[in-house]
Amino acid sequence: MQNLWNDAEAAQYQGLDLLVYASRLVGQDTSLVVWGGGNTSLKLTEIDFTGEPVEVMRVKGSGSDLKTIQPKDFPGVRLKYVLPLEQREDMSDEEMVAYLTHCLMEPSSPRPSIETLLHAFIPYRCIIHTHADAILALCNTEHGTEWVRHVYGRQAALIPYRRPGFLLSKQVAAAVKADPEVRLVILDKHGLITWGETPKEAYLRTVEAVNAAEEFARAQRRVQVAFGGPARPALPPEERRRVAAAVMPALRGALSRERRAILRFDDSDDVLEFVNSREVASLSQIGPATPDHLMNTKRVPCVVTVDDPSDTEALRAALVEAAARYAEQYRAYVARYRRGDEPALDPYPRVILVPGLGMFTAGRDVRAAQISADIYHHTIRIMRAATGFDRYVSLSEKDCFDVEYWPLELYKLTLAPPEKELSRRIALITGAGSGIGKAIALRFAQEGAHVVVTDIDGASATAVAEAICHANGAGRAVGLQLDVTNEAQVQEVFAEAVRTYGGLDILVSNAGIAPAADIEHTSLRDWQRSLDVNATGHFLVTREAIRILKQQGIGGSLVYIATKNVLAPGREFGAYSAAKAAEAQLCRVVAIECGEYGIRANMVNPDAVFKDSRLWSPELRRRRAEAHGISEEELQEFYRKRNLLQVPVFPEDVAEAAFWLASDRSCKTTGAMIPVDGGVREAFAR
Ligand code: ZN
Repeated sequence: MQNLWNDAEAAQYQGLDLLVYASRLVGQDTSLVVWGGGNTSLKLTEIDFTGEPVEVMRVKGSGSDLKTIQPKDFPGVRLKYVLPLEQREDMSDEEMVAYLTHCLMEPSSPRPSIETLLHAFIPYRCIIHTHADAILALCNTEHGTEWVRHVYGRQAALIPYRRPGFLLSKQVAAAVKADPEVRLVILDKHGLITWGETPKEAYLRTVEAVNAAEEFARAQRRVQVAFGGPARPALPPEERRRVAAAVMPALRGALSRERRAILRFDDSDDVLEFVNSREVASLSQIGPATPDHLMNTKRVPCVVTVDDPSDTEALRAALVEAAARYAEQYRAYVARYRRGDEPALDPYPRVILVPGLGMFTAGRDVRAAQISADIYHHTIRIMRAATGFDRYVSLSEKDCFDVEYWPLELYKLTLAPPEKELSRRIALITGAGSGIGKAIALRFAQEGAHVVVTDIDGASATAVAEAICHANGAGRAVGLQLDVTNEAQVQEVFAEAVRTYGGLDILVSNAGIAPAADIEHTSLRDWQRSLDVNATGHFLVTREAIRILKQQGIGGSLVYIATKNVLAPGREFGAYSAAKAAEAQLCRVVAIECGEYGIRANMVNPDAVFKDSRLWSPELRRRRAEAHGISEEELQEFYRKRNLLQVPVFPEDVAEAAFWLASDRSCKTTGAMIPVDGGVREAFAR
């Protein structure tokens, strides 16, 4: 590993700030910790609220990530109260958590790490605990004890695997105090602990220990090819993309039987080397590299092998069957070890390996699916190193259960904020670069959806997607250029949506144009163009959406942005109104044909929505003003006064109706039409 310590930079900091600096160096190296793993601490003298100097330990708070950690993420505990605990025989996790709460310097600070006592009992100032890949590759082997001895001699104390908690803390402290030569602790099948009088010393010892393990693995490597060599070739890259898009909806449906999942596809080189190897089936089932990974990857991945992975029909069936079998085995595993009333966690796999194709990961949102993938890359890396010189081993099945169903982990889950209404949903919206479509995209994202923003103007789609990611989290939206009249492009965009998130739950078919002319002066070109966009465009996206929704088998909602003109057409809007009438009939037929699959189709009829609208081109404004015998400036006011409520209609008003129709709030409604027009008497449904 690379030593990232920079004396000039570090010189700017002292005390807690220096710990933050060192912690971030650790956090940015994913070979040491990934996504919130590991923890660090520093013992200091601080002034407490009474003005008295007190001995305090600043330790990483539960739930923060070392890579981006800040001083406020380090709760302080008073050592005067914490250190005497070492004399106790035992202490339950709950007791420990409650006790530590009383020791906090700031009552409102985050909960200190569950490994707080471990840090406190080690009699040195700065402690760094990581789950370094190289250390795990060394100790997660059949002869791990010998290798640790060989690499570090008496400098390392190897502590047999035990779940973090009071007893592990005591055991580590005893080992450190027993032998003054001990410079580091290796927690078997878990990770590394180093220390020093300063953050620099502790960090450099981590570097030193990891480099020694890496060097050993390189020197000892006996095998020529990793994982027993390839058992099959990977499909070509383009074919992998095609197959992924073809099978992901069925897989997502199979994984979403209890709660919807967001999926991610990964076919990077290290993944392909592993899934295509002779040993993937056996190696992948041994277990996680460290308990920290379990919550995101489950104990083992699901391996789905078919003779020909390019046979999407066969692969789809195999994925669905494998997911169900995995869930059954998971439930049996829980039944074997459960002691009381542990809640049943989602029984479906988080990591799915497909020889020839790559890896799918699943999670509650795109971030969780990404975390599972990132962690599994490290699992592969660790197994690759370990099997270079020995046999890879892991925690026992029971130890895995004890971590996965550890009351403290379960408690953490209950602290998570309640899920938003559209969370775990994927929505594709057409014409979403501006106006109504954009307002809907922003609203859905705010309600927790993952959004595929499409528009004929690709740049505006990308801009909206970027705004969503900025406000709602990285990866929450993707912007794609889409001309809804182009059959091939529609298919490609839906395939890309599937590859990005795994499937689809909501389609908002919104893209439209509004040519204005009386029938007599309507050119065939304008007439045809209106039919292409305002009728055929809805048909093309609908057809693609239905295919995906049916493969998923978990229902769905299609929302059509129609118009008040469907019920009350106006002069000089022939090409527009005729095509929009086709859209309305399309919606109804979808409702009729797809009800039995739980797929709903409804429409919203807005009227005179000017704000941020590209439908209302300068030409259209001029023509409508002329038709009503008013000036262009008076147009908005004219429309406002025309409706019963005498209100202007905004894109956000349409988004509200679209949200209701997309969400489960309207789960008993299909084939319906909701006006959002301020009240237009001629457009009353009858
Ligand atoms: Zn740990």
